[in-house]
Amino acid sequence: MFRRVAIIGGGASAVALLSELVDRASGPLHLDWYTGGATHPGRGIAYGTASPRHLLNVRAATMGMFSRRPRGFLDFAQRLDPQVAGTDFLPRRLYGDYLEDEVAHVLGQSRSRGVDVRVVPFAADALVPEIDGVTVIQGERASRADAAVLAIGALPVRPLEGVDAALVAEGRYVIDPWALLAQAGSDPAPREVALVGLGLTAVDVLLELADRWPHAHFTAISRHGRLPAAHLPVSTVPDDDGGALLDAMHEAPEVRRWLRLLREAIAASDDWRVVIDGLRPSTPGLWDALPMPERARFLRHARWAWERVRHRMPPQVERQVLALEREGRLQRVSGRVTGARAFEGRVELHAWHAGARTPVLADIAIQTVGLDTDLRNTVHPLIRQMVTNGHVTPDPLGLGCQATPDGRLCREGTPWPRLFGIGSLLRSARWESIAMPEIRLQARMLASQMLEPDAAPARRRLASQPG
Ligand SMILES: Cc1cc2nc3c(=O)[nH]c(=O)nc-3n(C[C@H](O)[C@H](O)[C@H](O)COP(=O)(O)OP(=O)(O)OC[C@H]3O[C@@H](n4cnc5c(N)ncnc54)[C@H](O)[C@@H]3O)c2cc1C
Repeated sequence: MFRRVAIIGGGASAVALLSELVDRASGPLHLDWYTGGATHPGRGIAYGTASPRHLLNVRAATMGMFSRRPRGFLDFAQRLDPQVAGTDFLPRRLYGDYLEDEVAHVLGQSRSRGVDVRVVPFAADALVPEIDGVTVIQGERASRADAAVLAIGALPVRPLEGVDAALVAEGRYVIDPWALLAQAGSDPAPREVALVGLGLTAVDVLLELADRWPHAHFTAISRHGRLPAAHLPVSTVPDDDGGALLDAMHEAPEVRRWLRLLREAIAASDDWRVVIDGLRPSTPGLWDALPMPERARFLRHARWAWERVRHRMPPQVERQVLALEREGRLQRVSGRVTGARAFEGRVELHAWHAGARTPVLADIAIQTVGLDTDLRNTVHPLIRQMVTNGHVTPDPLGLGCQATPDGRLCREGTPWPRLFGIGSLLRSARWESIAMPEIRLQARMLASQMLEPDAAPARRRLASQPG
């Protein structure tokens, strides 16, 4: 068992892991928790929103943070409002309250469980993994831990290629929509707003700004100009366990064949959502079976379609978006945005689709393309330090870090024995790795590994380690 573990990150993944470790610890354990300066550890971007319009995209009953108490969030919500049902899509800020409540609870009970938690309210600046431990550097201080877990979430957003840097500097091309929402008032309100990307982030931004800027008109540009799919008002239960589909997919791990199998399964089912959701628990195994060229093919040809059906809007959110469209306040444009430049005092974007160019003019453009997980060329200081020093290797497809499915981060294909990741860094190894149901499982898996008696491998050099 590792006796001293450093947890790096101030979001929900870190809290889930902290809770699992404290709950399962059976001997003395010391946890150094670097929260990155978060004012409210646990909330992160997702649950830091104050807007009642920003809803969870997962039903309340499955948003528990703790594998031993999967209904934890529902119980929390029902204590506040007994009318809440497990099938409801509740506000994300309520989920943030739940996370903060869990943090307080975990910290409160840690001592009685023999766990000493040191909360470090700063970002870890550098990390040096070795075979027999990890050194964490924060400011002038270097602390040694038996193991460390990176729970840093998504990387800082970057402008798309071709975006004029001056527009970003002037705030007319916004790359961080959450920072904009945290400060945007109603005056002076832009009249023409372009949204670059049309996933769930765009929907959040649209609903909030449509309310704050009641006279604004929105043009949302995305490759296919399609809205994210919506959940059904009632939850659906698979009529079989999907075993035959999974077996067939495992037999031939090729994207083209998988798409054909999926189309057939969907044609034979009452609702396509049942098929998509049925794959969710098995996605890491399927992804693991997919050779690298096939993963690249998936990202090129199927990723956007998959994300659209996998990350769905609650039905009430869909109704609001469709109402904005009916009122003429939302227009959708198909195309790939190839850049943004200033034009006669406004922002000009070009959307390319099927060889044709559609120009879009706006007072402000907001990039809403979702999470960045590409470690190559990131400006995240800790990740830059670790990549530059060769401690970790970026996934060649831009999906976080090279890692094993059980969460060990790798250097040039060789897993470190004491350096782990959770959440978005593990997309390379698990694909589904950013939402709470997956993070909860990863937290449980990591805590079990760290607390098992022979967690620490014998002191030996990895075969590939130089020297
Ligand atoms: C807008 C949005 C809505 C979402 N909605 C849902 C939903 O409804 N349901 C769902 O299941 N999932 C949802 N997700 C997925 C979401 O990513 C996860 O649920 C969860 O919030 C991820 O938490 P995290 O801790 O991995 O990352 P984050 O929340 O990003 O937290 C990472 C934290 O680490 C800190 N950090 C970074 N670097 C360092 C460092 N060097 N040292 C210390 N700390 C550091 C950061 O400051 C940040 O506080 C949503 C995501 C977003 C962005």
